[in-house]
Parts: sequence; C-alpha cells; structure tokens
Amino acid sequence: MLWRFAARPTMQRIVLASSNRGKLAEFGEMFADSGLEVVAQASLGVEDAEETGLTFVENALLKARHAAQSTGLPALADDSGLCVGHLHNAPGLYSARYSGGHGDDAANNAKLLQALDGVPAAQRGAFFICVLVLLQHAEDPAPLIAEARWHGRILEAPRGSNGFGYNPVFLPDGYTLSVAEMDTALKNRLSHRGQALAQLRQRLAELHPAA
Ligand code: IMP
Repeated sequence: MLWRFAARPTMQRIVLASSNRGKLAEFGEMFADSGLEVVAQASLGVEDAEETGLTFVENALLKARHAAQSTGLPALADDSGLCVGHLHNAPGLYSARYSGGHGDDAANNAKLLQALDGVPAAQRGAFFICVLVLLQHAEDPAPLIAEARWHGRILEAPRGSNGFGYNPVFLPDGYTLSVAEMDTALKNRLSHRGQALAQLRQRLAELHPAA
C-alpha cells in the first residue's frame, strides 16, 4: 500500500496517469525528494483514458482508474485547466483542445487572446485549477482528492517561454511575471498543481502518521 510520500526501504512505485510532457516535467521535479518511483503511464504502455466527465474531478477519477486498472499499480492523476470569468469559465475542461487539435499550445493561446480582444484588464480575471486523485488500486472506494486554484488575469499578449500550455498569457495575482517568465521552482511553489500536491501530501501524512 502507498501510505505516504516518504523515503521507504523498498521504493514504492506509482503510475502517473498523464501523457502531457509539461505536467510530467513538473511532477518529476515535485516528486524528486519523495522517495517514490513515479512512472509515466506511457512508459508502461498505457494510452490516455477517454475524458468523458463533465467536471475536472470526474475526469481525474477516470484517468486514475484507467491507469490503475491497466498497470495494477497505485495511480495518481491530474486533471487541470484554465477558467476565464469573461468567457463563462471557458476553456475549462476543454483547455487542452480549445483550438481544435489536442495540445496545440500556440493555437490555444492565440484563440484565447482573440476571444478577449478589446476586453479591459479588470475583466480578464482567470484561474488555473488542478484536481489530483490518488487511487491505491482500480477499485479503491476512498480515493484521496485534492483541488487547488491559482488566480490571476489573462495578458494582452504572450510573455516568456518556460513551461507549457497557457503559461505565457497568465499573470498570477501579486506578480509582475507571467508564468512562462517564472522559473520552475517558483511556479511549482505557487501553482495550482504545486498547491494541490502539497495538500495531497498533507492528507497522506495525517492519515498515516507512522511510516
Ligand atoms: P488535461 O491534460 O486535460 O488536464 O489538460 C490540461 C490543459 O490545461 C493543458 O493542456 C493546458 O492547456 C492547460 N493547463 C493546465 N495546467 C497548466 C499549467 O500549469 N500551465 C499552463 N497551462 C495549463
């Protein structure tokens, strides 16, 4: 069983239910000191699950269950996206495929900037959301679920080149750098994904204090 993210005599393997290279890179850094062996699903021959849910949490559960079922390993899934208030929280669930093709970051950003053309800064509020689901096994009836949001606004033009997705057009509240102008360590400390993972680790430590 996966009891907590801590060094153990035998390293615990978990499968990461994502094929998004940007997310995998971030998780790689965030798990570097965890004592866990975190394996991307693609390296175990697992294809992406169909994301048929209507919410981030449903899709995260679908992804985690699919990876756990296919590998027999505990599974961690992330479902995340960008919600823009002026656009009634679009692109939302469809963030990866907003412009049509899956994962075309440049086209997604261009479509978003076009949709907000002429909209003043005060109405460009947005948040990134990340839902993490950890399943011990495919039939686990008590998944650990964490959710975090990162608030900010959409810039008028892209800035910076670090990371992936909507990083270049998102200006977090309280910062003058776009996410794509931040280094990974700063982004991982502040971000929806970093905060959700911190919550998940906290929950695991509370549930299983004695390693
Ligand atoms: P998912 O794989 O269906 O969860 O797609 C998430 C999509 O949301 C990504 O492909 C990005 O377009 C966007 N996204 C999620 N998290 C981030 C982030 O940290 N930076 C930039 N874009 C993100």
